[in-house]
Amino acid sequence: MPDVSIYWFRDDLRLADLPGLAAAAQAGPVIPVFIRDPNLGDAWRIGSASQWWLHHSLLSLRTHLADKGLELILRSGETVAALTALAAQSEATTVYCSRHYQPWSAGLEATLRDSLSSKGVGLKRFPGTLLHEPEDVATGGGTPFKVFTPFWRACNRRPDPHQPLPAPKLTACSATIESEELADWRLLPTSPNWAFGWNDLWSPGEAGAQAALNQFLDHHVQDYGEGRDIPAEPNTSKLSPYLRFGNISPRQVWHAARSSKIERPEAVGSIDKFLSEIGWREFCYHLLFHFPTMPDEAFNPKFSFFPWDDDPQQLVAWQRGQTGYPIVDAGMRELWQTGFMHNRVRMVVASFLTKHLLLNWRAGELWFWDCLLDADIASNACSWQWVGGSGADASPYFRIFNPIAQGEKFDKAGAYTRRWVPEIAGLPDKFLHKPWEAPGEVLSAAGVRLGNTYPNPIVDHKTAREAALSAYSTLKSLD
Ligand code: FAD
Repeated sequence: MPDVSIYWFRDDLRLADLPGLAAAAQAGPVIPVFIRDPNLGDAWRIGSASQWWLHHSLLSLRTHLADKGLELILRSGETVAALTALAAQSEATTVYCSRHYQPWSAGLEATLRDSLSSKGVGLKRFPGTLLHEPEDVATGGGTPFKVFTPFWRACNRRPDPHQPLPAPKLTACSATIESEELADWRLLPTSPNWAFGWNDLWSPGEAGAQAALNQFLDHHVQDYGEGRDIPAEPNTSKLSPYLRFGNISPRQVWHAARSSKIERPEAVGSIDKFLSEIGWREFCYHLLFHFPTMPDEAFNPKFSFFPWDDDPQQLVAWQRGQTGYPIVDAGMRELWQTGFMHNRVRMVVASFLTKHLLLNWRAGELWFWDCLLDADIASNACSWQWVGGSGADASPYFRIFNPIAQGEKFDKAGAYTRRWVPEIAGLPDKFLHKPWEAPGEVLSAAGVRLGNTYPNPIVDHKTAREAALSAYSTLKSLD
C-alpha cells in the first residue's frame, strides 16, 4: 500500500504552482482537504465579501480536482483537531501545506506539527504564497526592511523566483472519506443577496485568474504606468482577490509579466511599475511577518496618542457613500456594490476618513475587511497605516488629499463619479466634484437638490484640513 498524504488547502486555492501539492503528489495518493475553522484569526476571521469569493473558489477547485478524479474534502472545526482526526481516519502518514504568514500562522503550524507527530504523522510546509521568504530579505545589518524602495531593490538582487510548476498528476486515495456540503457552510449572502450580479463581474478560481492575467497583459499593461490612477479606465489587473485566495501564485504573475517585457519592449516601463506593485504586496507581508501587531496597532507608536474623533454618524456617512464629496462617495459605493475599489480611490477615501473626519484608521481597516473581496490582512493593514501616516514608510500625515482636486485630476471627465453617484450625473464637469459651488439654476437643471437628493458636504475641506494639522501637531511634542 503506498503512503497516503493529506494536502491541506489554505489561502492557496489552485493546483498549478503549488510546491506542497506537487510534493504530496509525488509521494503517492492525496486527500485534498479544506478546513473551515470559524474562530481562526479571531477579529480577523474572514469578512462577508471574502466569503463569497471563498465559496466560488472552492467550487472551482472542487471541479478541477474532480476532473482529476479526486474529491475535495470539506471539514469544519478547530483546524488542529480536524486535521489530526482526518489523518487518523484516513491513515495518512503526512500532511502537506503552504506556509502562511498571518500573526497566528506560525503558532498554528507548530501546534499542528506537535499534534500530528503525537500520532506518528508528519507535517511538511512549503513556500508558495510569496516571491521571497521573509527571512531571505534583510538589510545589510540583518534587520527587516522598513522602507519599500531598498526592500524591492534587495528582492531584485536575489536570484529570480523559481519558474512556476505545472499542475501535478494526482492519484486519488482509494478509501471513502466523508465530506461536508459546501452549500451547508452558507458562505453566500441570501436575504438580501447583496452580491447579486457579482458572478457577471468576477470569475473566482484558477481559470478566472489566468484569464484576468492574460487579459491584462495582452490588452492593458501598456497603459498601466500612465493610466493606473484613472479609476474610470480598466488599466489595472484586478488580480488582487485572485492573489488573496491563491487562485494564482505571485510567481506565475511575476514570470508572465517578465516574459511580456521581452515580447513587448514598448511596455517595459509599465511592466516594471506593475512588478513593483507586486513588490508592495511582498513588502506588506514582510512587515506583517516581522511586526505581527501591524493590523491592530500603529506601527509608529506615537500614533497611539493621536487624538482621534469618535463620531459614529460620520463613520456611517463614509461607509454609505453619503459624505457629500462625490469622489469619496463614488469609491465607497463601488466598494459596497462590487466588493472592490480602485487603488487611487482607496487612498482618497482612506485619507478622508483619517484626516477629514479624524476617525481612527482601524475603523476603515475593519470596514474594508468586511467589504473587500481582496481583503488581505497584510496589504489592508499596511495600506491603511500608509495613508493614515502611522505606517512604516508611510505617506506623511500632513499630506492631506484634497478630495475635490483628486476628483478633478483623476476623474476629470467624471465617468467614474457619474457611474457610482448617479444622482449628480447631470451636473456639468465644472461642478461635478464640488456640487455646493454650482449656482441654483445649474443644480435645478441637473435635478440636484443639495441636502435632499444628495448630501451637503459633512465637513468643510479647509476647516477639516486645519483641524487635522492641529491634531497632528499634538504628536510633535512626543518627538
Ligand atoms: P494592480 O495595480 O493591477 O496591482 C497588481 C497587484 O499588486 C494587486 O493585485 C495587488 O496584489 C498588488 N498591489 C497593488 N498595489 C498594492 C499596494 N498598494 N499594496 C499591496 N499590494 C498591492 N490590496 C489588497 O490586495 N488587499 C487589501 O485588503 C487592500 N487594502 C487596501 C486598503 C487601502 C486603504 C489602500 C489604499 C490599498 C489597499 N490595497 C489592498 C492595495 C491596492 O489598493 C490593491 O491591491 C489594488 O487596488 C488591487 O487592484 P489590482 O489588482 O487591479 O492592482
